[in-house]
Amino acid sequence: MTDVRGYAAPKPNAPLEPFAVPRREPGDKDVWIDVAYCGICHSDLHQVRDEWSPGAFPMVPGHEIVGRVARVGRKVRKFKPGDLAGVGCLVDSCRTCANCRRGLEQHCLGGPVFTYNGVERDGRTPTYGGYSKAIVVDEAFALKVAPGQPLERVAPLLCAGITTYSPLKRFGARKGTRVGVLGLGGLGHMAVKLAAAMGAEVTVLSGTAAKKADAKRLGAKGFVLTSDPAAASAAAGSLDLIVDTVSGEHDVNAALGWLATEGTLVMVGASPKPHAVGSFPLIGGRRALAGSLIGGIAETQEMLDFCAKKKVWADVETIAMKDVNGAYARLARGDVRYRFSIDLGTL
Ligand code: NAP
Ligand code: ZN
Ligand code: ZN
Repeated sequence: MTDVRGYAAPKPNAPLEPFAVPRREPGDKDVWIDVAYCGICHSDLHQVRDEWSPGAFPMVPGHEIVGRVARVGRKVRKFKPGDLAGVGCLVDSCRTCANCRRGLEQHCLGGPVFTYNGVERDGRTPTYGGYSKAIVVDEAFALKVAPGQPLERVAPLLCAGITTYSPLKRFGARKGTRVGVLGLGGLGHMAVKLAAAMGAEVTVLSGTAAKKADAKRLGAKGFVLTSDPAAASAAAGSLDLIVDTVSGEHDVNAALGWLATEGTLVMVGASPKPHAVGSFPLIGGRRALAGSLIGGIAETQEMLDFCAKKKVWADVETIAMKDVNGAYARLARGDVRYRFSIDLGTL
């Protein structure tokens, strides 16, 4: 074990502070990655605040990781020292169950190993995330990152990118599809860029009037201010697919009402509180309500390659590690356009 510098929340709701993160010596199939940038996801905030379920503390958040391979185990084939690599929300899974075999490692029936706030497959060793100088991961869970890209803007693809790419693909976003993106935050702005890059016609559904110009700049054709009753009712029945990225309580029935007949609302936002869903908005329009959790490893690689080719990257505000607590406060009040990216070179 080697300790590397990092930042952790020592207990639920506590500010993050410097923490020595233990990293294993790379095994035969492991890569040691020196972290360059790590995005701040709203899921980091939910977990540090213990809003989902009791978390494991001290907690080193961060699952939007990009960096450079420094060392590799002797059986590693995918990477060599000096290569760029990414790590998302997963660092391991059983690899043999039906879901792992079909590329859904995030739904591993033996329990996926999450990048932080989890335990390794030995059932004991805590996992620590990307708010740290380095991470050690099996090559099977490290992604290839093409050179020549702005790494601080690539990092958020590892969660916000794949979490929106996966349902857009699954529900057929393409030329001619009318895609709505509910909530224009870190996930939402990636959903807009990705759906537009897939050729879909995108409408942003936002509670923040000041984001209208951004929505257009990001690639949306339409903008609906959800708090404006006239605009909200004019949007009824107008969309084939809605990606719901909202992080808190909101009116899911209103969102279902924006779907055309047989449209699908796919929930990716992870509100700690349950939603009330009426029968009639669903049965009235033969509509579907679905969910989606990040994406598997192969699909994450496909997304990274798609983004490299199309030059689709997150809009970021790069911050120093020591400013993470201020960034959390701003993220909680929606004051970020559209992702914080931590420069680990500042730690
Ligand atoms: P974010 O940057 O904070 O964006 C969330 C956006 O939702 C805000 O910008 C705001 O957009 C809107 N919003 C927030 N609270 C709202 C409320 N109470 N009512 C209505 N609108 C509200 O968060 P994020 O990082 O994109 O994450 C969004 C959610 O997805 C979080 O719950 C996160 O945990 C979850 N998540 C899920 C997965 C998955 O695999 N399913 C992966 C990553 C993250 P407007 O100003 O435009 O209204
Ligand atoms: Zn995330
Ligand atoms: Zn499995």
